[in-house]
Amino acid sequence: MKQEGYNQEAIQSMNRTLILQYLQQEKMCSRVRLAQLSGLKQATITNIINDFISWGIVEEMGLMGGQRGRRAIAIRLEQERFAVIGVRLARQFFDVGLFTLSGELVGERVRTPITDNAPQAVLDGIARSVLAMIHAASGRQILAVGVAVPGPYYAKEGIIEDVFPGWEKICVPEELRSQIPLPVCMEHDANAGVLAERLLGDHDRKYETIVYLAIGQGIGAGIYHNGQIFRGSTGIAGEIGHISINLDGPVCSCGNRGCLTAYASTIALTNRINLARQKIDPAAKLLTWQDLTGDSENAPENDPVIREEFDRNIRYLAAGINSLIYSYNPDLIIIGDEILALDKKIADDLADRLIYLKRHSDKKKVLVRASSFDMDPAFVGAAEVAIDYVFHHLGVFWQ
Ligand SMILES: [Zn+2]
Repeated sequence: MKQEGYNQEAIQSMNRTLILQYLQQEKMCSRVRLAQLSGLKQATITNIINDFISWGIVEEMGLMGGQRGRRAIAIRLEQERFAVIGVRLARQFFDVGLFTLSGELVGERVRTPITDNAPQAVLDGIARSVLAMIHAASGRQILAVGVAVPGPYYAKEGIIEDVFPGWEKICVPEELRSQIPLPVCMEHDANAGVLAERLLGDHDRKYETIVYLAIGQGIGAGIYHNGQIFRGSTGIAGEIGHISINLDGPVCSCGNRGCLTAYASTIALTNRINLARQKIDPAAKLLTWQDLTGDSENAPENDPVIREEFDRNIRYLAAGINSLIYSYNPDLIIIGDEILALDKKIADDLADRLIYLKRHSDKKKVLVRASSFDMDPAFVGAAEVAIDYVFHHLGVFWQ
């Protein structure tokens, strides 16, 4: 039976989680501000912060300007003693990094290319990289590991489907937990992205329904609604890469025909550009995504063939996003992942193409923006998934 009531201990722990989330969002703030944001009594805030300070989770940073000219003691999340590890698994590489409880990267992001995509090879590689990072961060206590994975990711079973052959029989979080002696939390990469954009991104906090659309080697959407990620019954909500935009299109790995990913992923776009170039000149060199994004000669504005194929991609994506608007009715759609490296203005181009926006007045408008992160939001989001776990399980500080 679903639990509906909450006892005193559960309420105390929910309040503690809430205050930690506000501390992360505000970066530095006063106890009065926390009381305002949370609606909790000042005395409750004082008790919670006293506990946090005695446990070393929160630190006082001297005086800051308060309301009505009063000075207040600034507090923030501890920055040096604790950390989490974020891992992003993509189709062709995985990234690993160390993050503070505020979600800031400490040191370098370590990227490992995937040369053998058999599950054991990749998962052993991730575990080795995480263990090396734990070892190197000897001064800090690592509390949890967050992993962002491509999808469809069936969160309840821990299964990634249709990305790498042979992976559908493996419970991915369980495999990693058997090698990493810390809590390992896994999330679909687009869900991790939307979490990072909502909690740390440069967007107004007023938006309640946010979609983060990751357009990279795959296409997927993370949906954040009323304070949480919307996953659906098995975890695959938002897999819009598998929306069909052509019933007569090629068969997709999911069994459907004409899926959006086959038309508009960065892999599909690269292939189309190469085909178009070779039609003109059969000896034309095959370009990789790195060639396309690393050389300004290949920017869409400098090459008419690339421009044409990029425009075609925008048309495909607009068709998918139009369906997404009618499915989830978001306030804000954030475009992220590899596609931004080719053209930062893509959010505006997409907004111009959306039939929904052409037809509806300002009142019903949905905002389309590019990601506000310099770094990949799914990578930051992976750390955010671990931080979210820590904020909900304070026992990890004493492990
Ligand atoms: Zn499909």
